[in-house]
This record gives sequence, C-alpha cells and structure tokens, in this order.
Amino acid sequence: MHDFALYHDTEVNWRVAEGYGAMIAAAGSGLRMMLDNPVLEIDHSGTLISVRTANGVLSARTVIVTISSALLAQERVRFTLALPEKTQAAAGLPLGLANKLFLSLDGAEEFEGDSRLFGHPREVGTAAYHVRPYGRPLIEAYFGGGLADDLEREGGRAFVDFAEYELNGLLGSTFSSRLKPVRLSQWRKDEFALGAYSYAIPGHHGDRAKLAAPVDSRLFFAGESCSIESFSTAHGAYCTGVAAAGQAMAALGR
Ligand SMILES: Cc1cc2nc3c(=O)[nH]c(=O)nc-3n(C[C@H](O)[C@H](O)[C@H](O)COP(=O)(O)OP(=O)(O)OC[C@H]3O[C@@H](n4cnc5c(N)ncnc54)[C@H](O)[C@@H]3O)c2cc1C
Repeated sequence: MHDFALYHDTEVNWRVAEGYGAMIAAAGSGLRMMLDNPVLEIDHSGTLISVRTANGVLSARTVIVTISSALLAQERVRFTLALPEKTQAAAGLPLGLANKLFLSLDGAEEFEGDSRLFGHPREVGTAAYHVRPYGRPLIEAYFGGGLADDLEREGGRAFVDFAEYELNGLLGSTFSSRLKPVRLSQWRKDEFALGAYSYAIPGHHGDRAKLAAPVDSRLFFAGESCSIESFSTAHGAYCTGVAAAGQAMAALGR
C-alpha cells in the first residue's frame, strides 16, 4: 500500500507500433555494445572493476547494473566483494507476472480496430483481449498475476487453450477455429528476467532507494525496481538509467 501510494501516474501512455525492441535498438544505435553475452561476475575488489562475461573479462572504472530485482535477489550475477544489502533490498521487491499471447485472427475485419474484450468481468483469473491492435489481424491476450503463473507452470499450450476457451465462450463455440498462436511470452521462465515487474512486500517500500544507492561511487544501479515513483514501468527504468549514467559520469569527473 505504501509503495502504491508513492506511485505517480503520468497518465501519458504511448504505444510503440514497431515494438519495444525496435525502440531500444534505435536508442542504442551507434553505441558499442555486445549482445548475447551474459555477465557472470562483477569483481569490484580491485582498483578497476572486472566484469566477467561468457565471452571474456571487461575492465571498467564504473559499472551500471540494470538486471531485475529477482536476478539480484537470487544472486544470478555474483558480486565479489558480496553486496548483502543489495541482495536483501532486491528480495523485498519481488517480481509479479504478466504475459502476452498473440493469436492471428481470420476474418479480422468483422471487429473494430483496437477494441477490447474481458474474459470474465467478475473473475480475477481471467484474461483481457485486445482485438486488432493497430488494425492488425491479431488478438493480443494479456494474462496477469496468479493465472499467468499457473499457466506458465502448465506449459505454453495452456495459454492458448485458456484464451480459446474464454473467446469461444464470448464469441461462439467455433470461434477458436479462426485463431492461430503467433507468439507467447513466459517471463517467469525467462532466465534473464524471472518475472515481469516489481512490487514491494509489506514493510519494504524503502528498499527501492536502498537498491538504487551507489556503492563506493563506482557501482551504480538502475532499472524499474529502483524507481520510487515510476516502478514497474518502462519510463521508470529509463529515468533511473539516465540518473545512474549521470552519477557515473560525475564519478568519472565528466
Ligand atoms: C506483459 C508486460 C506488459 C507491460 N506493459 C507495460 C506498459 O504498458 N508500460 C510500461 O511502462 N511498462 C510495461 N511493462 C513493464 C516494463 O516492460 C518493465 O518495467 C521494463 O522493461 C523494466 O526494464 P528494466 O530495464 O528495469 O529491466 P529489463 O527490461 O528486465 O532489462 C534488464 C536487462 O538485463 C538483461 N540481463 C539479465 N541478466 C543479465 C546478465 N547476467 N548479463 C547481461 N544482461 C543481463 C536482460 O536480458 C534484460 O535485457 C510491461 C511488462 C510486461 C511483462
């Protein structure tokens, strides 16, 4: 409740027609970067920080850490010297779950573009359906909370079965013959996420500031879980990243 009360909703919501991946690729164009190169260890015991990756070791004067709170809590990246205060703060900010399933839709023109359906208005364990996003012949099914976790545990097909069942109930028992699965996220299973976005457990709303605090003016932390008033969002992640970059540049005397 305290965490939620600190949340400031800008009430500005933009969609990215080309997808978030395209936005991130555009923001990073021209920068030197390595993809598919997971960090295994950050050793900050020496004068320079050593970042051990799957493809070799990088040395740096400053490092900005942006992995999810769940990965920090489970110490999926090892810190030498250990940072128990970060592990503890991250554990106070576990990740909830939201997943999306995209289905192609035959005869989509029958529906108004960008319309919505709700599986069941009085059930928590139900999905929301965005029909013809941007007018495209698709249905985007959105699953949240315990339902999303249950379906992930059952396996990918369970999302399709659930959506078909609800849409048949709403639109007629043969409606699912017009649908084909296109793409599904399963963020809890994703080893580089372990969930969707963070919430503070009771008594732990102060952990966001603890997680965001720099260590020795050379290890900086960013990501949605570090944002006090825009947690759980893309802009919260972005703004904490900009703030951490500013701190790192100041530490480097720039
Ligand atoms: C279904 C769904 C819908 C959403 N809808 C919205 C919305 O409408 N509006 C909104 O603002 N937000 C939305 N969000 C939330 C938003 O996507 C997140 O808050 C945001 O992506 C968090 O960004 P981040 O940089 O903190 O973390 P991430 O996006 O998790 O970025 C962390 C990065 O670190 C990488 N990484 C992990 N481990 C390692 C490692 N060992 N080495 C190297 N790299 C590593 C990961 O691959 C990842 O790219 C939604 C999320 C979901 C799941």
